[in-house]
Amino acid sequence: MNKIMEMLKKDIQYIKGVGPKRLSLLKRLKISNIEDMLYHFPRDYENRSISKKIIEVQPGDQTTIYGIVVGTCQSIYVRKGLNINRYLLKDATGSITITFFNQPYMKNKFKPNDHLMLYGKVKKSFQGLEMINPIYEIMEANKVTMQEGIVPVYPTTEGLTQRQIIDIQKNIIEVVEEIVDYLPEDIVKKNKLCSLQFALKYIHFPTSLQQIKVAKYRLVFEELLLLQLALIKIKKKTIKQQKSIPLRNNEGIDVFLKRLPFALTMAQKAVLKEILEDLGKEVPMNRLVQGDVGSGKTIVAIIALYKAVINGCQGALMAPTEILAEQHYHSLKQLLEPLGIRIGLLIGSLTKAKKQQLSQEIQEGKIDIIIGTHALIQQTVNFYRLALVITDEQHRFGVRQRAILAEKGDNPHILVMTATPIPRTLALILYGDLDISIIDELPPGRKEIKTRSLTSEEKERVYHIAKKELRLGRQAYVVCPLVEESEAIEAKAATEIKEELAATYFSDYEVGLLHGKMHPKEKETVMKLFLENKIHILVSTTVIEVGVNVPNATMMIIENAERFGLAQLHQLRGRVGRGDFQSYCLLIHNNKSKIAKERMKIMEETTDGFIISEKDLEIRGPGEFFGIRQHGLPDLRIANLFKHMKVLKKVQSQVEELLKEDPYLTLEKHPLLKEKLEEKFKGFEGT
Ligand code: ADP
Ligand code: MG
Repeated sequence: MNKIMEMLKKDIQYIKGVGPKRLSLLKRLKISNIEDMLYHFPRDYENRSISKKIIEVQPGDQTTIYGIVVGTCQSIYVRKGLNINRYLLKDATGSITITFFNQPYMKNKFKPNDHLMLYGKVKKSFQGLEMINPIYEIMEANKVTMQEGIVPVYPTTEGLTQRQIIDIQKNIIEVVEEIVDYLPEDIVKKNKLCSLQFALKYIHFPTSLQQIKVAKYRLVFEELLLLQLALIKIKKKTIKQQKSIPLRNNEGIDVFLKRLPFALTMAQKAVLKEILEDLGKEVPMNRLVQGDVGSGKTIVAIIALYKAVINGCQGALMAPTEILAEQHYHSLKQLLEPLGIRIGLLIGSLTKAKKQQLSQEIQEGKIDIIIGTHALIQQTVNFYRLALVITDEQHRFGVRQRAILAEKGDNPHILVMTATPIPRTLALILYGDLDISIIDELPPGRKEIKTRSLTSEEKERVYHIAKKELRLGRQAYVVCPLVEESEAIEAKAATEIKEELAATYFSDYEVGLLHGKMHPKEKETVMKLFLENKIHILVSTTVIEVGVNVPNATMMIIENAERFGLAQLHQLRGRVGRGDFQSYCLLIHNNKSKIAKERMKIMEETTDGFIISEKDLEIRGPGEFFGIRQHGLPDLRIANLFKHMKVLKKVQSQVEELLKEDPYLTLEKHPLLKEKLEEKFKGFEGT
């Protein structure tokens, strides 16, 4: 570690202004050393350098004003998509209207006589002068607490004020003078970037908006550059150094396909062809299969696994939940065991002895295909001759987990499957280390799932419709409200609903229960009974979200549907419509807000996963839609994969050029960059 690095790694507790209490608050923000603090960037800025008396304010001004609230909030619902909250503000010189459009939470936010400081844009309207959607602070009477000038606004946590963060930043900022840029000069010049020193200083303490822009650009650029480099390095590493077992024998695959109860769709055939070709090579396959819910990814995976076995090798299939692993286990058994292929299921809930026995059999090659959850990578399973690893519902698996798995066996071929539809440009970055195949077609004869949203007052009708289906011999799911971060509360709610339904509406039927707190053995039993139509209605939490396949189930009832994201509703809905019967999705919702209604409408109108994910993005914004972590990438502090798409494109071509010139970053101008990359992505590669 060089001297500067040492300095940057200095514990934040030694900085003036950081006592034990602040230290623990900073920890909550994941700040533990000087570097973390420097890279704790403002999420916004307020330009308070200009403040005006109300009488001086002109239309078009972007300015700060001070004043006192006169009277109460005037709250107006204009039409769908437009609600307004207005206040009147006055100072000694005059008065001005303060208007918040579409910020319903601003209703009654201020009380009469509140002293406010506001910063925002002024325009002329029917109200006279009006400040629209300003940033505000309620002040103690006559006491100005805010800083003047361009003031950063930091992400923070309860108990830590903006002022305190600014003070700490002030105490460390001189460190910046010592920092050496790790981007080589040619890259800095070519992309017109400012120096790292400049960027770090002015991102925190700008004196003009231009400085912010320049600093931000540089920091976004470098963050994306490091990310891109890391991803490509992973890809290179897998491609360069590794040799897989080429699986050249295709004998029997055609016969196998003919024996299936259905013919593959064109899309399935095309993707399968790509996969079979990849498998025949010595270069390990590294492929992502993206296909909407119900597009038939599983059978493609099964054929790939079959190919591994007829080539004298083993295959592994990983699923994100035990339920899904078990389901795959049963499908594979049904299709492959008659052909003499031996299949094993390795999940966390097995007894120790059972696990040991299985591991033994895997190691001795007595099992050809092994199916499991993360248990597969956590346990010290040694394979006899592992040639192919498939992970289902990839969005639940990180890059790191994949990497660990890849290290098992002799550089197995890797296939990952996901139903999360991501715009292609984005997929290329997120899965930059993978080749991509898309199944963009559903099996024929699928009837479009009819989706209706109903309010909770109409619940009886919902159950009535469900009963009709049950009488026809079909089955139904009832999904209970999502409770963020509390499986226990979720489980309790599900239990209550199950008991109520069993005692009232559906007393003539068998009602089952499934939630995350149940013992895996119990879960398995319930799923088995449901699959055999011995349970008619399955009350469940979102544990059934991914992959579960019971074709006879035709009703998906979702309680409190407004609490789910659209992509998630789409996943849930995908549990029905898997057989030949007309299926239904009934969304019960309580929320009468405009957004909730709009979302329900989207669900009613389309079953196309790509459209839904795009809408979801539009409504919720990328932040929520896209847990970066979910994809196994490190947190981005300043770059945004959506907002900075253009920068990203530049970065991509820059990285390409860089690696062409110096593939291993060994040139004299690159050691700092290399060091930075290694430090930043320690653990990321799983090495
Ligand atoms: P997903 O892509 O969501 O994982 P599955 O692989 O579970 O979808 O497939 C959904 C259902 O469609 C399964 O019951 C499967 O047997 C069936 N299926 C798959 N491919 C076809 C096909 N080409 N024709 C008819 N049914 C198919
Ligand atoms: Mg699936």
